[in-house]
Amino acid sequence: MRILIADDTVLMRSMLSEMAESFGHTVILAKDGAEALEKAWSEAPDIAIIDWEMPRMAGIEVCWHLRADPRTAYTHLILMTAGDEPWRELKALDCGADDFLHKPINAAHLKARLTAGVRIRAMHEQLLHLALTDGLTGILNRRAFLDRADQELARARRTKRPLGLVMADIDHFKRINDTHGHAAGDAALKRFVTGCKLNLRVSDVLGRLGGEEFAILLPESGRAGCVITAERLRKAVERLDLEFEGVRIPITASFGITALALDDAGESITGALQRADHALYKAKEDGRNRVELG
Ligand code: GH3
Ligand code: MG
Ligand code: MG
Ligand code: MG
Repeated sequence: MRILIADDTVLMRSMLSEMAESFGHTVILAKDGAEALEKAWSEAPDIAIIDWEMPRMAGIEVCWHLRADPRTAYTHLILMTAGDEPWRELKALDCGADDFLHKPINAAHLKARLTAGVRIRAMHEQLLHLALTDGLTGILNRRAFLDRADQELARARRTKRPLGLVMADIDHFKRINDTHGHAAGDAALKRFVTGCKLNLRVSDVLGRLGGEEFAILLPESGRAGCVITAERLRKAVERLDLEFEGVRIPITASFGITALALDDAGESITGALQRADHALYKAKEDGRNRVELG
């Protein structure tokens, strides 16, 4: 794990970092409260060990700021102090610390605290992954896709770079389920996702909106770029050549695409999805296995 160690004395910093490194962690150092805050925000450590008494900003205040910011709201915070009055622990917890360490600190205490922190962080990562990914295909689920889409729209507006949106829906998918069984349908969904990924850039964002319906964000792509990508995906899906329990199952998909209107202050992901969905509907009406622009 990546551990931020913030203390104003050189000796303490070197002692703690040596211990943490000997337990296999990577260490980020800060020499006062303000630097601790900056590094926590810029480097996103898993765990932060923060001294109480430090110049520029006290540890207690660092904890408070870290908790209040979404980037560090779940960083595991351990506050340490030489003072041993009982109120200190209560105050630390009240300001958002998860744990407390009394100076002088020995390796056994630090190890125990870090072990607990690692366990909590690992669970947090696992829960986050479960909440944001589609269990069958491993890509972003609807909620995560929509969040990411808002971020990409904001970024496109800021950088004045185009952003494209594609909606894809597998054709006559119900037939695959009805003819070959639900497991074949599931296999088709997985193959569809693999086929798409192989034909997208790493910066493109693929999400499962629900059922056999997918959406793809194409940063740096205007209308023309979207058409080219969607056509490439359509052909790739057609060539998927899925075989399930010895039976060949043909798959095709229809695509509706739109470019985000970045100059329009009223433009939103919801609006763009509606346009792409209308285009998709038209692709279905016109015979499926087609790309339509919205
Ligand atoms: P169209 O070409 O108009 O899109 O027809 P379609 O059959 O693909 O569309 P429809 O909406 O009628 O059917 C979608 C089917 O997808 C119905 C639902 O049971 C199935 N489905 C949804 N989620 C899953 C899943 O996770 N696994 C499997 N195997 N089937 C699913
Ligand atoms: Mg100090
Ligand atoms: Mg369908
Ligand atoms: Mg559908």
